[in-house]
Amino acid sequence: MTYKIVALILPFRESKILIKNSETHRSVYVCGCYFEKGEELKKEYKLSREILPDVFSITLPLPGKRPGPVNVYLFKGREVTLIDTGTAQTAGFLQKALGEHGLRFADIDRIIVTHGHPDHYGAAKKIVTAGRAKVAAHAEDIVSIENGMEVSANRYRNFLQLMGVPISIGILLGLLFVVFKHMADNCVVDIVMHGGEEIEIGRYRAKIIDTPGHSKGSVCVFLDKEKILFCGDTIIEHITPNAFIMLDEKEVLPVRLSQDEFYKSLDKIKGLSPSMIYSAHGKKIPDIEQIIDGYKKSFAERQAKVLSIVNSGEKNVYRIARLLFPEIGGVRLPLEIFLSISEVYTNIQVLQRDGKISLNIRNGLLEVT
Ligand SMILES: [Zn+2]
Ligand SMILES: [Zn+2]
Repeated sequence: MTYKIVALILPFRESKILIKNSETHRSVYVCGCYFEKGEELKKEYKLSREILPDVFSITLPLPGKRPGPVNVYLFKGREVTLIDTGTAQTAGFLQKALGEHGLRFADIDRIIVTHGHPDHYGAAKKIVTAGRAKVAAHAEDIVSIENGMEVSANRYRNFLQLMGVPISIGILLGLLFVVFKHMADNCVVDIVMHGGEEIEIGRYRAKIIDTPGHSKGSVCVFLDKEKILFCGDTIIEHITPNAFIMLDEKEVLPVRLSQDEFYKSLDKIKGLSPSMIYSAHGKKIPDIEQIIDGYKKSFAERQAKVLSIVNSGEKNVYRIARLLFPEIGGVRLPLEIFLSISEVYTNIQVLQRDGKISLNIRNGLLEVT
């Protein structure tokens, strides 16, 4: 096999060589440098990977297969920015990955948190404490990031009781929330975002796009000129992200229609025509149309299934969830139950809005008819 160096670009920070295997045109590793088919050769790092000039993805461990490890993104430049941080437990791993670029936590200027889930802001406090980093997040997710929970434990408890969750499962869910809280250190948000902000990030210009649905305050970072989107958990290649219930401290039941907001956000993203999407879990996504079509198809199927279970006479959200997802069990049971209840509730909200079902609270239980 022969390899042909077709370009040598110096003297940038990292020498870049364009190289091709003249026979197979396949990716190769040579001399500690990273080669991709017909692409510019990039310096190889163990824990981080250059995805754009001066932008690096760092993949941090997260227990469980779904959604799988967390991708955070490092933008080097006059100011150093991180998009998301991973959990508090993987802060050491993140520190090592930053070390590959001669950076410490104290060198981070800003952290953009895509949303208030612990795998995204968990290590922010550790970074802030080490130096000067400012934390930016959407106004709607500040409570989650600063308090560790969107609403009080009581509000969660009341909601789960209304859904008909048995006490034994409720206790397991309580333990699950303790685990979640442990994954992140609460952290003060310094920069409040609302969507629409135009920012400088590394050597790029970007726009903050508010994309509620997965959480109340989910945001994406869009590099306008390059048409590249960093989408947090709003789009994940290997799963349909949950449009989580949006609990409200003052309301007995969530009033915001998460699914509706989620699909409007997807349309907003589609309108940007991104050429590449970098997700917080899993692979990068080149084809937005295909992925959104897939999401819409599975959403329609899920809606139809929920409606048929309700039409068969089942009124209780917890039991609908168990019928809809009969396979759930094992060590992930509490998490799967919470996700399935969230899924059923957010679906019945839409069915109710469309006049296909009605919801009533009777004897402390929500009845779906
Ligand atoms: Zn999330
Ligand atoms: Zn996540």
